[in-house]
Amino acid sequence: MQIHKFGGASTNSVERIRNVHSIVSSLPLGKKLIVVSALGKTTNALEKVVQFSVNGEKEKAMEELNRIRTQHLNMGSELFGSHKECLEGLNAFFDEATENLKGLSNKNYNKSYDSMVHFGELFSSFMVSSFLNIKGVRNVWLDVRKVLKTNDHFREAGILWDVCKPLIRDEIDNLFIDESVIITQGFIGKTLKGDDTTLGREGSDFTAAIFANILHAESVTIWKDVNGVMNADPKQVKDTVPVSHLNYKEVIEMAYYGAQVIHPKTIKPLQNESIPLFVRCFLQPDLQGTVINGIAPEQLPPMIVFKKKQVLFSFQTSDFSFIEGKPSREIKNIFAAALVKGNLTQNTAISMLICIDENEDKQNRILSESKNFIVSVETGLTLLTIRHYTGEVIDTFTKGKQIILEQRTKDTLQVLFRE
Ligand code: ASP
Ligand code: MG
Repeated sequence: MQIHKFGGASTNSVERIRNVHSIVSSLPLGKKLIVVSALGKTTNALEKVVQFSVNGEKEKAMEELNRIRTQHLNMGSELFGSHKECLEGLNAFFDEATENLKGLSNKNYNKSYDSMVHFGELFSSFMVSSFLNIKGVRNVWLDVRKVLKTNDHFREAGILWDVCKPLIRDEIDNLFIDESVIITQGFIGKTLKGDDTTLGREGSDFTAAIFANILHAESVTIWKDVNGVMNADPKQVKDTVPVSHLNYKEVIEMAYYGAQVIHPKTIKPLQNESIPLFVRCFLQPDLQGTVINGIAPEQLPPMIVFKKKQVLFSFQTSDFSFIEGKPSREIKNIFAAALVKGNLTQNTAISMLICIDENEDKQNRILSESKNFIVSVETGLTLLTIRHYTGEVIDTFTKGKQIILEQRTKDTLQVLFRE
């Protein structure tokens, strides 16, 4: 059984949903579970609906929801043709979402958020499922909330793995008796009490990985608008190259240094079952894209990550005693209490340097807790990380830069410089 995940960009127009049909119908025969996330920017739009509503701007909330409805229904009319029952089905979800508007409140903000935002995935998956059925790719639509049970940490819900395992196995086995394609939603779930939940923004990849882990899938494929994982963000670096093979460890490392690749949360369930993850381009399905598995790649190009808006804290003991030991533990505790992760840390005899993401609240909190130290703060910095660096690449990216701090291991170079 294969799992395929289609993100918001891959379903964001009538043409793109037609393209999903063409991709799915050209996949090899066999069982497939398809995970769909909300169309385009629908999740952001639904967030706006919640915001307007809890701010008491009920009319604006309704307007925004109606705008989303019209957009989906216009696409639906084109895709469904004479199949009025599909349009009615889609409309029914919007009636439900409109009804749900009434219950939103600032008191239960996160719960209200999930009760509204989860609809995006119901709309999109229903559209894709209906269209594929019309086009003869027979499939069954599964409401993932029936089997994906979570705790009630709304907006960042945790998976109840032990509850999900038998539910998912039984339900999927059962559905595969009659159909070889199942279409369901990413990102959303339900508590045992019956409240709707979401797994955190961009959570649909994670859903695909959960299913893969529990069902021992043969592979997961994530369809994106780029040709696999690149060695750097094309928005930041010219001449990026796609990387055809990575291992789980490299992806986790890259994410740690700030690359917007696949989230480690998604990698873990796959790594535990040695399930390969393919990242492919829905615009050019003939290209191979990237495979991520447990095998160490033979050679990797330099992997480059820029993290802007960095702040460097420098702590010095006020009595010039060594920083090692108690002072250094105290600083670490201050950062932990402020829920701040250091992106780069360096010690000298009497000082400790920690580079973090800019965040005014957290910076103030750290400052107010650091009375025992002489502290200086430098803002407006960029942290460059290069894995598998070469002399040439280092020169290209650091030439002319005012370097504040540099750290190197065998695989990784990190340079902090002024923007
Ligand atoms: N639709 C959700 C979001 O935009 C989940 C996802 O796309 O993975 O965050
Ligand atoms: Mg998305």
